[in-house]
Amino acid sequence: MQQMIRDPEQLFKRLGLDIAARPELTGALKQFPLRVTEAFVAKMQTGNWNDPLLLQVLPQTQETEPQPDFIDDPLAELDANPAPGLIHKYHGRVLLITSSACAVHCRYCFRRNFPYSDNNPSQKDWQQALDYIAEHPEIHEVILSGGDPLATSDDYLDKLIGRIANIPHVATLRIHTRLPLVLPARITPDLLNVLTKHRLHTVMVIHCNHANELDNASADALKSLRDANIHLLNQTVLLKDINDRAEILIKLSRRLFETGVMPYYLHVLDKVRGASHFDVSEATAQALMREVLASLPGYLVPRLVREDPHASSKRPLALL
Ligand SMILES: *Cc1c(COP(=O)(O)O)cnc(C)c1O
Ligand code: SF4
Repeated sequence: MQQMIRDPEQLFKRLGLDIAARPELTGALKQFPLRVTEAFVAKMQTGNWNDPLLLQVLPQTQETEPQPDFIDDPLAELDANPAPGLIHKYHGRVLLITSSACAVHCRYCFRRNFPYSDNNPSQKDWQQALDYIAEHPEIHEVILSGGDPLATSDDYLDKLIGRIANIPHVATLRIHTRLPLVLPARITPDLLNVLTKHRLHTVMVIHCNHANELDNASADALKSLRDANIHLLNQTVLLKDINDRAEILIKLSRRLFETGVMPYYLHVLDKVRGASHFDVSEATAQALMREVLASLPGYLVPRLVREDPHASSKRPLALL
């Protein structure tokens, strides 16, 4: 992660793109800095400004333009924040903001404006969140999210998971991560040991938006997770000009299956300030999904959902 690219010029040079062709990006970079790993850049096509992986991390001038309806906390997560680092919106499961760091900065991220400084507890501060979970016997599942939870050290994860496993009514550990795609080298034998040595049932939800992300290095990392008996699911965000065509979504589902991952959710964009250029309308999303549904076996069709700020679950969008 120390070697990741943070300077747009370095990224453009690496991809053989003409820097002079780019407008001034300082405003967008100030809002949300550029971050991308070499492993992710290696999957991009050189010389192509419209590469679907590049577009996910490329700062754009539109980000700083006024965007009515696009706000800082579109999911009202801060209304469901009973302890530092803990978000409890849905019955039976809670989300721990395990780390503020990511190995990539996805420009559409709904937490791009999240106040991590108030929600990034050091190890001792987990006590409040863990006490809350212990006091709520209906919580069966703890989701490590972020940022990217795997951006922390093995030792940190080991201690945190150990403390979660000590709460008897928690049965399932879920990890939301992009690292198998953006930094597959993170999936080491030591990490696999940390993720499997406790008594909890482990699910990993990766976040892959395009089949090009699933190169051999990522496929190998995913295989080692599967071999360690970790259930693998994928969530995708529907993104304008990146994956908003049925054939791209169909290819993604097939490639996920080849690498041992089941499609889970296809999210329509959360309306976060700075991300309006990625928006695809609900009607377009539904039409796309009807095509996907007509082409794939049912088990490869992700659920098209929207997250409503105060709903009791993600809201499925009807297809028929
Ligand atoms: C998405 C999400 C979950 C998990 O929801 P599932 O439908 O179980 O995948 C939990 N908590 C929060 C705050 C979420 O946004
Ligand atoms: S939290 Fe996920 S979507 Fe957001 S920047 Fe990090 S990796 Fe990307």
